[in-house]
Amino acid sequence: MKKKGNQHVVDRRAFMKKLGMGGAFLALNLAGIAPRALASDGAAPFRLPPLPYSPRALVPYISQATMNFHYGRHHDAYVSNLNRLVRGTGFAGDSLEDIIRKTAGKKDEKALFNNAAQAWNHNFYWHSMKRGGGGRPSGRLLQMIDDSFGGWPNFKDAFSQSALTIFGSGWGWLVQEDSKLRIVQTRNAGTPLVDGLNPLLTIDVWEHAYYLDHKNMRKDYITVFMNHLVNWEFAEKNLLPV
Ligand code: MN
Repeated sequence: MKKKGNQHVVDRRAFMKKLGMGGAFLALNLAGIAPRALASDGAAPFRLPPLPYSPRALVPYISQATMNFHYGRHHDAYVSNLNRLVRGTGFAGDSLEDIIRKTAGKKDEKALFNNAAQAWNHNFYWHSMKRGGGGRPSGRLLQMIDDSFGGWPNFKDAFSQSALTIFGSGWGWLVQEDSKLRIVQTRNAGTPLVDGLNPLLTIDVWEHAYYLDHKNMRKDYITVFMNHLVNWEFAEKNLLPV
């Protein structure tokens, strides 16, 4: 773990190598549905990754209209903009995650960071939900939630409250830092990838994620996300061994 300013910066592969499981874990990760598979696409031009379910799959909690706009217009635009911005630059050979890390916090690369991070965050978000999801996880993840937050009800309240209180546009995250879990907020295109944290789960709280279905009631959207949409199997697959 390198220290950069006040932030712990972890190179994911170096981290896994240190654990002696880099190759196996990476291969497993890239072969599965984990959105880190995005990195396996290699360099630009990036493609809009397929939705892991039909655009109707999350009805009635998230409508097909929302999916059509959110995935088909917003996410698609981030990928298109990213490809346009990368063309002819020194980032042309980089993976999506490398572009995000290299441009984070750089004033001159703000547009590139925003579009790359939004492309990554949205794919992670689609996988963070599933039809028939929600409720509480089980196994190792539930144990870690108990250890880190003092029980399921505490975690559920804290995660919901954190997502609710992000001022303006952003993302609510459950992340792993070593053997502990944490709840973090990011603003706009922010992503915990650049803070050396391992994302497990995210909720998009930009208004475009819920306005067509829930109008200004972000709280209602968070409630249905927790009760009916969270894909805990996905979150568990993202756990790194400790
Ligand atoms: Mn969004």
